[in-house]
Amino acid sequence: MAENDKTLFGFDKNPSNVLPQKYTLDSKIKFRCHPGVSCFTACCGNINIILTPFDILRLRKYLNLPASEFLLRFTTPMFIEKTDMPGVKIHLDENGRCPFVTEEGCTIYPERPSACRYYPVGMANFHEGGQEGVDSEQFFFLVKEPHCKGHEEDKTWTIREWRADQGVDLCDEMNREWLELVMRRKSFGFQATLSEQAKKMFFMVSTDLDKFKEFIFTSSFLDTYDIDQETLDTIREDDIALLRFSYKYLASSLFGTKDLKIKEEKIKAKAAELDGKRSSKEEEAIRTYEELKAERDRMLAEKQAKK
Ligand code: SF4
Ligand code: SF4
Repeated sequence: MAENDKTLFGFDKNPSNVLPQKYTLDSKIKFRCHPGVSCFTACCGNINIILTPFDILRLRKYLNLPASEFLLRFTTPMFIEKTDMPGVKIHLDENGRCPFVTEEGCTIYPERPSACRYYPVGMANFHEGGQEGVDSEQFFFLVKEPHCKGHEEDKTWTIREWRADQGVDLCDEMNREWLELVMRRKSFGFQATLSEQAKKMFFMVSTDLDKFKEFIFTSSFLDTYDIDQETLDTIREDDIALLRFSYKYLASSLFGTKDLKIKEEKIKAKAAELDGKRSSKEEEAIRTYEELKAERDRMLAEKQAKK
């Protein structure tokens, strides 16, 4: 079986297994996956299952683990497809199998990751960069791999019905803003620099909401950002609200969007700092100019004296 069978990001992987056809929500597909198929759980090994922040949140809650322990036990750091953005994927066992698979199937099925729900229907967005004001064309495609016998099953449904059955719409809604950040980075390419510090921040915020919450409430974060009390009370208690807030923070800090407001005094202090830098540069330039002028005057005076 090829690697990277399940993906969050469209056509990048195994294009030869992607049927050359665009599907809409009303297109019909013939597919069914159930414990009776001969290939049952064949797709749960030798794969990269990238976890979105929403996947991590729902999985660690299901397993009743703090984020740090979940990350340590079940994930491996990696770079998200074709970007320099760090993230995590499920750490496979020594046989290359997902740690959550048994002969009976997926032990975390109700909370399984987005990539496992999407398979074998992918979603593509053109204008993937999620640029503001640019409409994106969205369509679906079908991945048909030789080992997957679900396509031979006698069950026909529309993509809309299939997605509802898999609970994909909620994943889409909760992943959308984060995926847009990754896509935006992807469309900028490596030539656009992102500091190591920014990458570390992206990793921390995307994988460990416990740490992000600590960062908000115990660092100088609230001296910098103007966050109203109601939002603060909500994100302190509600992890989904915290997750949504984390996307806004990342968009604002990595791409300079206006999702979060920086405090007036911070903006003024920054402006003063820049002014300070500018005036010291100006002073330096004036000093250099005066030194040159004095040197030229001295040379002229010498010339005059020799006449
Ligand atoms: S999380 Fe579940 S569905 Fe996904 S690969 Fe693992 S066992 Fe299979
Ligand atoms: S039918 Fe396809 S999706 Fe279902 S277990 Fe088999 S390989 Fe996996």
